[in-house]
Amino acid sequence: MELVKTIELKCGQTYLLKLNDGNVLEVGDVFMSREKGYGTRPYHFSDFENPSDTEKRVMTVCTMAGCPCGCRFCASRKSFVRNLTADEIVGQVEFMIEQGLKRGRNGDPNNSKEFRVLYTRMGEPMINIDNVMESIRILINRYPHIIIGMSTPGYRSAMDKILNDPELAKHLDFQFSLHSTSDEQRDYLFDAKLGGERFNIDEICEYAEKLYQVTNKQVSLNVILLEGYEYDFSKITKKVDPKHIWLRLSPWNLVETSEDEYGFKGLLKLEDVVNKKPVSSSTLKEIIDQIESLKIAYAYAPAIDEEIKNNVACGQALEAFKKEIANI
Ligand code: SF4
Repeated sequence: MELVKTIELKCGQTYLLKLNDGNVLEVGDVFMSREKGYGTRPYHFSDFENPSDTEKRVMTVCTMAGCPCGCRFCASRKSFVRNLTADEIVGQVEFMIEQGLKRGRNGDPNNSKEFRVLYTRMGEPMINIDNVMESIRILINRYPHIIIGMSTPGYRSAMDKILNDPELAKHLDFQFSLHSTSDEQRDYLFDAKLGGERFNIDEICEYAEKLYQVTNKQVSLNVILLEGYEYDFSKITKKVDPKHIWLRLSPWNLVETSEDEYGFKGLLKLEDVVNKKPVSSSTLKEIIDQIESLKIAYAYAPAIDEEIKNNVACGQALEAFKKEIANI
């Protein structure tokens, strides 16, 4: 892998890496202080201003070059080139460890109190499940306390494979992308039911429950709160024990793609979340009141706000890089 660009953040780096066949990946490596009592909700987020080398390290990696999915809120949509091999996925982690060492950082993630690798950059991990599971096995072997975060709308055959391997599943922290409580609206947001397999809301609830039984960990349901979209979480609590899930509420992050034409408007504003005054409208207050009355744990989680502010989340750095190259 060849380093083609580094974008510096206060709490770490975003890197663009070129594979042997010329495909470029976008990855991230950030250090932060751990949240006090992580796991209690609501929490806000970690201290990005004073990153620690040994408290918490979070890497974000790709599972594909491009992505076949059509999520309308993502800069990587419908750009699929190929699946990454297990070695290429692990290679991204090893590359970032090496770079950290060169920068005088703590090089060995085994020395970090919390080490997370999130399969959340380019690619849908469930559609490359065999290579993804192989890469997880390699990483667990090298970094026994690793937690792998997986963000996906969910695919039945892939989820069944994971559930059939409880030892591997225990290292996973699952995030199902919900974004609306209406199946029709989700069909629009995700634009196409790839292979007819993407989970509907009932299936998300069914598999959140199954995962909880195997991992004993709450499953996160990710929600970008959008104006005009349905958020009736009683539909969820009818199907899954609220104690077994939590809601990760995120601000809409405008991506610089042609999809801006969809005109999404976020209910949560990044600056309000960062300033710890997230509830800025009566609509938002009603949603939060409902969540609280249903006793679902929740958190305002703006991903890594530094990344959003720098436009390097979710394929954006790569898109900007492609434009840069095209203009040379
Ligand atoms: S959000 Fe994930 S699955 Fe959807 S298009 Fe982007 S990279 Fe693909």
